[in-house]
Amino acid sequence: MKKYLLTLCVGLLAISTLVAQRQYLHCGRLIDCTSKQVLEQQTIIVEGNKIIGVEAGYKAADQNATIINLKDKTVMPGLMDMHVHIEHESNKNRYLERFTFNQADIAFRAAGYAKTTLMAGFTTIRDLGGTGVNVALRKAIDQGITDGPRIFACAKSIAITGGHADPTNGAKHGLFEVPGPEAGVADGPDACRRAVRQQVKNGADLIKITATGGVLSVARDGYRPQFTETEIEAIVSTANDFGIHVAAHAHGDEGMRRAVAGGITSIEHGTMMSEATMDLMIQKGTWYVPTITAGKAVADSAKVRGFYPEVVRVKAEAIGPKIQSTFAKAYKRGVKIAFGTDAGVFKHGRNALEFQYMTEVGMPPMEAILAATVNAAEMLGVSDQLGQIKAGMLADIIAVNDNPLENIKTMMDVRFVMKNGKIYKQK
Ligand SMILES: [Zn+2]
Repeated sequence: MKKYLLTLCVGLLAISTLVAQRQYLHCGRLIDCTSKQVLEQQTIIVEGNKIIGVEAGYKAADQNATIINLKDKTVMPGLMDMHVHIEHESNKNRYLERFTFNQADIAFRAAGYAKTTLMAGFTTIRDLGGTGVNVALRKAIDQGITDGPRIFACAKSIAITGGHADPTNGAKHGLFEVPGPEAGVADGPDACRRAVRQQVKNGADLIKITATGGVLSVARDGYRPQFTETEIEAIVSTANDFGIHVAAHAHGDEGMRRAVAGGITSIEHGTMMSEATMDLMIQKGTWYVPTITAGKAVADSAKVRGFYPEVVRVKAEAIGPKIQSTFAKAYKRGVKIAFGTDAGVFKHGRNALEFQYMTEVGMPPMEAILAATVNAAEMLGVSDQLGQIKAGMLADIIAVNDNPLENIKTMMDVRFVMKNGKIYKQK
């Protein structure tokens, strides 16, 4: 009986594969990101959740295929933002929400932000710090419970006591328990190892550390190094044992240098990056995720009276405007760039602003698109599945009206979104 059922199941599976509906995407222009060319009049063939081929010309309809007309659009791989905080969105009440929000409040908002992000054409994000809702959201999206991008989450960022990601900064004594490695606050190599292991246990796909001070924490310093070399080495080696990478938030150069020397995979923000650190990054193959949009956004918010506590406002005004010129220098010097915005520090869904900021200081539009596709996929170690349009890749595909090489602003108006072969937006 069992054997009969098994044969039946295999048989049904075989039949369902045979009649699997194909989708032919007729693309007026195609940036496949396998080359730097804009191809014209191409057909992408999608079956199930995968791309099974790309053919020149518009392939005619047949009985097993649905035609999707994108003849007046530019089609490209789903965009990938390597620095997002999907749980939060900055506003005047940000510092109060720490005391008023329950996890459920955060979760409902995060689900909304995830949907907004997907509809903006970002089919993959790396979440670089939240409360663990990011991990739960990843699971819910993967299970089809709610709509959003693929999420690679760090769960909670790891910081030193009083460091940028110490969640109790600025609170009166006794209000919170003193956070330890389980809560992502660690001093000394043993505690650092413990903190990494706890995040992995909590479901992290990667580790995020705050290697220097930062802008939005209620703490005076935004630049100084916050982990010793020994601590960074403990974090990186423990993460690597789990086969996962480490992203390091850094504004000041010394903390950045330590992180790069210690073997982290990406520098986030990189505000005061020296030429020596750029060279070290080139030598070690470290990625730079600039987040220019966040820099501009905090500098703007700093001008609004009362938006930030004074201790934060001073840092936002000083650090924010510097990132774009650092990015320009690092790109020209040859540092590898992966696209990242710090969305959440500004409104979710406006991630594509970064393309404008990258290109206005000298990065060609095609390079900026590659940073948000192939480069991001390479950094995540998923080049065999994401970041290009060719046979064998997952069907994450978007389209915009204009040719972004002529009008980069078109990236802000994504008209078609497919993730995993499913269409989420078409207009
Ligand atoms: Zn961030």
